[in-house]
Amino acid sequence: MAEPTTTAAWEPVPRSRTFELVLARIEEQILAGNLRVGDRLPPERELVELLGVSRAAVREALRVLEAQGVLRSRVGTGPASGSVISAMPSEGLTQFLRLHMALANFPLPDVVEARATLERSSARLAAERATDDDLARMDEPLRRMDDTGLSREEFNDCDTAFHVAIAEAGGNRLMADMTVAVRSAVRTALLTAFHKLDDWEAVSARLRAEHHAVYDAIALRDTERAGDLVEAHIRGFHQHIGHLRG
Ligand SMILES: [Zn+2]
Repeated sequence: MAEPTTTAAWEPVPRSRTFELVLARIEEQILAGNLRVGDRLPPERELVELLGVSRAAVREALRVLEAQGVLRSRVGTGPASGSVISAMPSEGLTQFLRLHMALANFPLPDVVEARATLERSSARLAAERATDDDLARMDEPLRRMDDTGLSREEFNDCDTAFHVAIAEAGGNRLMADMTVAVRSAVRTALLTAFHKLDDWEAVSARLRAEHHAVYDAIALRDTERAGDLVEAHIRGFHQHIGHLRG
């Protein structure tokens, strides 16, 4: 092993890192409430002047924010041009979590724990607040899953739709977005597990029955039972597929 060279310890900060400082400035404005959903960012050349940085740094920062789903760029000139703060950061959050899950930055037991906790709360809120429309949105994927001829992929999609409908019925946007993000993060893992099951008939029958019981508890406004059942449903399934992993 060679001696560490002294030149390796301290290098000048690359100029390209300036974009991170631009990012920090824009974040500051968002956190301070100066920039809200639908607001337009100052034009590129104005940001260059305001922040005293290069055009390249500003562009790089805007690209990062777009990729995060925070900014939406509008092309063209005039009052409608430029970058606008996006109203749908949940897509960015979903994508972000999905990629980190794929890279195994979150161990599965942690994800199961998070799902169980989140969805328990969502189910309780749904039991308190679900409207007839909300119940209809939960019922739809439930009916579709009753079809025993459904492919495992279709079943998984309906399963997701059911859980998302519960989260949305709770009326808490943040919880719903987080549920969607975590759920879509485990989508591939769940689907892989579905395909490996050699007792699919029995497992899907059990999942079906559990979903109906959760739905009934929500429809009957039984807060405690709705929370308990959804948590048991999530933990039970992951316990069952646990032996398939590795
Ligand atoms: Zn389910």
